[in-house]
Amino acid sequence: MPKIFCIANQKGGVGKTTTTVNLAAGLAQIGQRVLVIDLDPQGNATMGSGVDKRQLPHTVYDVLLETATIAEARQRSDKAGYDVLGANRELAGAEIELVELERRDRRLKTAIEAVAADYDFVLIDCPPSLSLLTLNGLTCAHGVIVPMQCEYFALEGLTDLVNTVKQVHANLNRELQLIGLLRVMFDPRITLQQQVSEQLKAHFGDKVFDTVIPRNVRLAEAPSYGLPGVVFDKSSKGAQAFMDFAREMVGRVQTM
Ligand code: ADP
Ligand code: MG
Repeated sequence: MPKIFCIANQKGGVGKTTTTVNLAAGLAQIGQRVLVIDLDPQGNATMGSGVDKRQLPHTVYDVLLETATIAEARQRSDKAGYDVLGANRELAGAEIELVELERRDRRLKTAIEAVAADYDFVLIDCPPSLSLLTLNGLTCAHGVIVPMQCEYFALEGLTDLVNTVKQVHANLNRELQLIGLLRVMFDPRITLQQQVSEQLKAHFGDKVFDTVIPRNVRLAEAPSYGLPGVVFDKSSKGAQAFMDFAREMVGRVQTM
């Protein structure tokens, strides 16, 4: 069985997709078999993995509606080194269509079980909301990885997410854990960021990952080439940090 992680934070623009594709590429480079599931109708994880979201015969939408299996819908990203279950705008409709359907919050779980033997890690890039799509992700995950910027309001939004994780744990998925908070786009020259980082460690202890992802322009440039930063410029500070994070995750999984 693969370990399944949601990359979630109900805020947009906090680095979820960047974390998903770079962790996936980092894990692939150290020999792990990885599936990325794009659960955001924006399809950024799909495009950022070098898969054209406009040209997909099947997407995660079909998988949720059970008109295709993951084995039929996944695409291989040779450059990135992992498989992608893509998404595009179509997925926005699934939110409404799913409400009517039975087992609406566990369809992804059932679908992943069918390809479980193919992967060591499944990484799910969640949309910026605590919607039914995110719920589908949380229902099948072992853990949640929360990328966050060390800014003043970062802690505020965290309470809602932590409560959602607790509720899903209590009602839908006993395996779900908050694995950790990942500090991203970090700039050590900014005093406030250092302060928030210290607060996070004081508050959440070992739930804060050791690895810190710096603000690095190469990570921001990579998606326009259809590549994770880890592949686009291996020698960049951002890529090296994500390689560290991949190794940290492999270590965490061994203790789970
Ligand atoms: P989300 O998926 O949470 O909306 P993204 O991963 O798309 O967030 O990141 C938002 C923006 O910030 C993107 O333009 C991305 O390229 C940029 N970005 C993310 N992480 C970094 C980083 N460590 N350094 C510089 N830019 C980053
Ligand atoms: Mg995103």
